Amino acid sequence: MTQGILFKNARLAGSIPSFRGLADVRVRDGVIAEVGTNLELSEGETAIDARGNLLSPGLVDLHVHVYPGAVLGLMADEVGYRTGVTTVIDAGSAGPLNFQEFVDRAILTQKTRVLSWINFARYGLAGSLSELDAPEKLATYDELEPFARNELVVGMKLRASSSVVGKMGIEPIRQGVAMARRLGMRVMVHVGNAPPHLPDVLSLLGAGDIVTHAFHGKPGGILTESGDVIPEAMEARERGVLFDVGHGNASFNVNVMRKCLDKGFGPDSISSDLHLQSISKVGDLPLTLSKFLALGMDPVEVLELASTRVAKNLGLNSLGAIAPGYVADLVLWRLVEGESLLFDSDGNELKSTLRLAPVMVMKGGEILLSAQEV
Ligand SMILES: [Zn+2]
Repeated sequence: MTQGILFKNARLAGSIPSFRGLADVRVRDGVIAEVGTNLELSEGETAIDARGNLLSPGLVDLHVHVYPGAVLGLMADEVGYRTGVTTVIDAGSAGPLNFQEFVDRAILTQKTRVLSWINFARYGLAGSLSELDAPEKLATYDELEPFARNELVVGMKLRASSSVVGKMGIEPIRQGVAMARRLGMRVMVHVGNAPPHLPDVLSLLGAGDIVTHAFHGKPGGILTESGDVIPEAMEARERGVLFDVGHGNASFNVNVMRKCLDKGFGPDSISSDLHLQSISKVGDLPLTLSKFLALGMDPVEVLELASTRVAKNLGLNSLGAIAPGYVADLVLWRLVEGESLLFDSDGNELKSTLRLAPVMVMKGGEILLSAQEV
């Protein structure tokens, strides 16, 4: 544990209540102790002058694959703290029958905090990527029940793509949602190539459930042929269903995203879907966030969509905000100016003039990364 640290003159993202203007943030014993203006340096504390740069909560990436025992797995620290992501949430790489191996090998060994969606498929994505295409692959109530109370598990993951469900169609998705309801869990559903068709999937979901890859550019997505948001998605949002980005290899299309933003249907969270095959295209979560800056969004809002909003959507009470009592996961950002071209999953260009770059990363009060100069 470090001695106390006092950040001076920071612009805050993710503060509760929302703080305008420059603020000071005091960190003591691994938690945020005080947020205010003109805070005095106490004895033994170190001051870090943020010089008007953005200070955000440590990012929380809602959708990554960090179980090397599964087909697409990276290690959490490859996509985690070095890029300002202090918490990653694995999206169902493991199921109930290999979850303990995942914990031992891929959670306990990493500096980055790892939480997880548990797959409805018994062995998650270990072995094959058609994990829901046969009845014997689906987990039973008894297999899943212990994980409903596991503090590492945020909910159940279901992938609703034709390549995943095969001849089973929407049936495993229906059964998975029903199982999650029995267990009192939320679900995160991946949507992609139909069938199952998006309206049918959305009809199963309720408040707090999450759709990931919501803004993909494949046929049968979130837009009608005339470019409006499909009514089933509008109704789902009314019910409290949440829509996540999940960039990935083939699941983020800037033309779709732009139309949705124009219609007032922005994302409820921005995640990367980083895995072995997508990392060369996605890069990291800050690069994904920079694409939203290029789409015209404000840096504070973008950072909150990958931290505060994720924690709130998942009920992670002590993470994802700058407020007294919260865990001191904090990232100091530099906004780097300069023209560059960024690309979505489908190769469409985005002209970027501003990028987010982490210059200091703190997790639980400990500085894990510090660039030479702020
Ligand atoms: Zn994924």
